[in-house]
Amino acid sequence: MAPLPASTLTHLECSICGERHSADELQTTCRACGRALLARYDLASAARTLSRDSVGGRVGSMWRYAEVLPASEMSERVSLGEGFTPLLKAPQLGAALGCDRLLVKDEGGNPTGSFKARGIAAAMAKAVALGVTDVGMPTAGNAGSAAAAYCARAGLAAHVAMPKDAPQAIIDEVRNYGAELALVDGYIGDAGRLIAEGCREHGWFEMSTLKEPYRVEGKKTMGYELWEQLDGRLPDAILYPTGGGTGLIGMWKAFEELEEMGLIGSERPRMFAIQAEGCAPIVRAWEAGAERADPWQAPETIAPGIRVPGPFADDLILMALRESGGSAVAVADGSIVESMREISRMEGIDACPEGAATLAGLRVLLANGAIARDEEIVLFNTGTGLKHPELRG
Ligand SMILES: *Cc1c(COP(=O)(O)O)cnc(C)c1O
Ligand SMILES: [Zn+2]
Repeated sequence: MAPLPASTLTHLECSICGERHSADELQTTCRACGRALLARYDLASAARTLSRDSVGGRVGSMWRYAEVLPASEMSERVSLGEGFTPLLKAPQLGAALGCDRLLVKDEGGNPTGSFKARGIAAAMAKAVALGVTDVGMPTAGNAGSAAAAYCARAGLAAHVAMPKDAPQAIIDEVRNYGAELALVDGYIGDAGRLIAEGCREHGWFEMSTLKEPYRVEGKKTMGYELWEQLDGRLPDAILYPTGGGTGLIGMWKAFEELEEMGLIGSERPRMFAIQAEGCAPIVRAWEAGAERADPWQAPETIAPGIRVPGPFADDLILMALRESGGSAVAVADGSIVESMREISRMEGIDACPEGAATLAGLRVLLANGAIARDEEIVLFNTGTGLKHPELRG
């Protein structure tokens, strides 16, 4: 196996005001304006070694894109083999919908059963390099199991808080990896307040979505993988079940980096955010033409990963939708459950409810003409259905 090249990370930059921050110390959000920080690389130097040929001979995980990841030299210590998941053709499902180029990016095989592993692995590699010993993680579920597993792997203590009505399988998972778990009577925002308090009192490092700058770096590798797996092209449309929006923001960033490295042209996929009708802050803001999203009151959906009433980086999600020419749609829980079964029966892919929401969303987008049937379409199945015995049948 070819050895991995070093990271070309240079600094962090505020996504809104542009303020520069050092990448050699622990960072959370922008010290000037409080918004999300994004990692910047020496892409000219990365481009000298990163190509489709070169990455082809590297490790079969997301760390194959080491030049554009933080702390690639720490990957061996924290990696559980995350990423480089299959991009599957879905011909039967496609035929039923009249789409001949339907693909499913299946994230269910990731460590801890969801794509949260990508973001947490990247954040953990950097945190370990900077001497963190305790991690605080508010979560709707899957980020908690990933944090617990990667902390165990790297020898750190994990402090996780999640809503008490999170799926039992995820609660069991977090405990099984040895994390300290608090179940809160409320939503992910309430878990966030509890963890923030723990971080202030005990000096834990908070890894909450986009308040930590490197989770988005792990998730952006999904964009690099699409490029590699489609032989250097990108699809026409990407349907993404959107909670905190890390993956959507990350892929949009990946495409920018690929262009800057001369690996693609200026063409981009249209990005579609799929949410549940019972928790659709981005859809509501999109329909109102707003640049920020108001928090959703009393969020209710069977899909925990997208039960995020007040995403911290709402502005970046909406920006990616606008710039890409995509949109945002909400789907009912009933159609999510039906779609789970349909994906399993027609393609043998075990969809999680969040992933199934993208199929329900595709139906809406085909009907309203936002996506044409002859386009190349990628649905993101963001995790395994196995964590949801309550929804199977
Ligand atoms: C967290 C999660 C999502 C939402 O991901 P974001 O990138 O935070 O929007 C979707 N699906 C599953 C299974 C998740 O765990
Ligand atoms: Zn700023």
